[in-house]
Amino acid sequence: MEYREFGKTGAKVSVLGFGCMRFPLEEGSKEPKNIDEKTSGEMILRAVEQGVNYLDTAYFYHDNESEPFLGRLFERTGIREKIYLATKLPLSLVKEEGDFDRFLNAQLERLKTDHIDFYLLHCVNRKEWEETIPQCKLLEQIKGAKKDGRIRHIGFSYHDDEELFRQIIDAFDEWEFCQIQMNYVDIENQATIRGLEYAASKGLGVIIMEPLLGGKLASPPENVKAALSPEKTPVEWALDFLWNRPEVSLVLSGMSSMQMVEDNVVYASRSAEGMLSKSELEMLEKARVEYIRNSLVPCTKCRYCMPCPFGLDIPGIYEDYNHTAGNGKFGALRSYEKKPIQADQCKACGKCTKVCPQQIDSAELMPKIHERFQEIRNEQKPG
Ligand code: SF4
Ligand code: SF4
Repeated sequence: MEYREFGKTGAKVSVLGFGCMRFPLEEGSKEPKNIDEKTSGEMILRAVEQGVNYLDTAYFYHDNESEPFLGRLFERTGIREKIYLATKLPLSLVKEEGDFDRFLNAQLERLKTDHIDFYLLHCVNRKEWEETIPQCKLLEQIKGAKKDGRIRHIGFSYHDDEELFRQIIDAFDEWEFCQIQMNYVDIENQATIRGLEYAASKGLGVIIMEPLLGGKLASPPENVKAALSPEKTPVEWALDFLWNRPEVSLVLSGMSSMQMVEDNVVYASRSAEGMLSKSELEMLEKARVEYIRNSLVPCTKCRYCMPCPFGLDIPGIYEDYNHTAGNGKFGALRSYEKKPIQADQCKACGKCTKVCPQQIDSAELMPKIHERFQEIRNEQKPG
């Protein structure tokens, strides 16, 4: 196993972390709460035996059953002492000041431990940053929990945009680490690759989640696969893209079979900062463009089209629209609804299409996109 310094925390973490949200389920079950505890326990023990020293869970994972399962595993096997344990405050359930202690204490009880090594505010977004966090005094309380020893290090996980990401980092001196979504396709999404660099430059340890884009890069579409050299598996290329970056402390993988544990451990043991050549990075960039080509709108977020004279966030609207293709259509709608100027405000001036390297015809697409979001909005309404 390879290990890296985890920002300024003083911890040395394995470059591969075990994400505890995709355990195998009991035979025949589709309910996330029915974890196959025997197999999952064996997988964790095997990973730890191979040097993995970071387990990442959260209050919500496996319908609230991931933490209690880990607690039982720790009691039975004693591996708590061998690993760093990370879990997260369920921010979306926090309604009042007392909720912080209520959840943290319940999590300590579930996990059968007296402290959490790495405690994160789960999925900070603009609303929570501007409302819940100050109103419920969460930053003051998380500092207090560190002082009284219930937690050791303070961090946050994140899925909003780059601008807010920087704002959050700059606003609180006590952040020690953060967790962001990154993979070779998502370099311009969410915190972005620039956000990754920024966080590291501020001394934060950076954890990567969704290195395989929810598994999509493990068995990518044919055109993406064809762009990748067969010398490594698509999974190894995707992980190496991240391990190549010195800003990355560790990459989480939500492992769901023993084979995945075995493969990922081998990949991790071969990893190193700066391991990819210029031509390998160019190959991954080609694979990214191929991946985007399969999207509903092949927007690469180059932003040559910006600004739109009528104020539309053109690449942002295409990103939301592309997300409607998977399971995330209601999340995409929420993001779309936050946009002050929506696709129906396109005046078909054609300025963007003239400069777009992908020749995306916004005048034609924007009204259709708006219509599609109206449909999704209607699907949400009961009855
Ligand atoms: S065509 Fe629509 S999206 Fe493109 S620049 Fe004109 S108004 Fe903006
Ligand atoms: S110019 Fe085209 S590809 Fe680039 S951001 Fe605008 S719409 Fe997307």
